Amino acid sequence: MVVAAVAVVLCSVGLAIAAARDRPSDPPASASRSGPLPDAGTEPAGPSAETAPVVEVPSPPGTDEPERSSSRSKGSSTPVLRSRSIGEPFAGRTEGDVALRPQGATFFSWDPIQRRQPNRLDRRYGTDLLVVYLERVLAGYKADHPRAPRVGIGDLSRPGGGPFGSDFGGLGHASHQNGRDVDIYYPRRDRREQPPDSPDQIDRRLSQDLVDRFVESGAQFVFVGPRTGLRGPRGRVQVIALHDDHLHLRIGPVVPTR
Ligand SMILES: [Zn+2]
Repeated sequence: MVVAAVAVVLCSVGLAIAAARDRPSDPPASASRSGPLPDAGTEPAGPSAETAPVVEVPSPPGTDEPERSSSRSKGSSTPVLRSRSIGEPFAGRTEGDVALRPQGATFFSWDPIQRRQPNRLDRRYGTDLLVVYLERVLAGYKADHPRAPRVGIGDLSRPGGGPFGSDFGGLGHASHQNGRDVDIYYPRRDRREQPPDSPDQIDRRLSQDLVDRFVESGAQFVFVGPRTGLRGPRGRVQVIALHDDHLHLRIGPVVPTR
């Protein structure tokens, strides 16, 4: 793991500088197991991920069983909802996590450090709940906007979760540690499959639709940038810096089935 991390750092240092403009970024820290962090206050207290029940989410049509990072779970025929999200987004890890596909009919993945498709596998892991939820919401988006470009998906978590900081390129992520966070790039008006370079390139109608869908489908938080003009219910949709090219979606330990 240390060797791999060093290799990533070495090969991404130069690129990280070039990518600084749309570097991975995070909402402010809210809480950890050892107590509140300096930026506490944005995230309300909720049930522990380790004790909360998990509500089953049906797999969308045509979704293959994702690849799991834990060899322990291989061989089972149960397709989803065996992952564990442990700890907090800012100090956590996962077990039995799965990888989002590199691309699909509704989305492409984007590597924010190398600035290309697809994102690397070891930046695409999350809980099965997150991966299934994401694919389900995007399937609905595609059905309602059949001519819209595919949605760009950035970083989720590392395999097994844990720290995803600057050792992995750019500024890194303070959160994205327990498999419940994902960065999603706003659709571009010119339909190009890459992040917008500036807010005026954002298709606000489609972007607001995405925000609304995530809120309505039970996302815990959606963080959007101050120059995007995007909005939503206070508390659930929060405006923070460094999110003018992507929104940051966080699901709770439980997501409604609808
Ligand atoms: Zn993020």
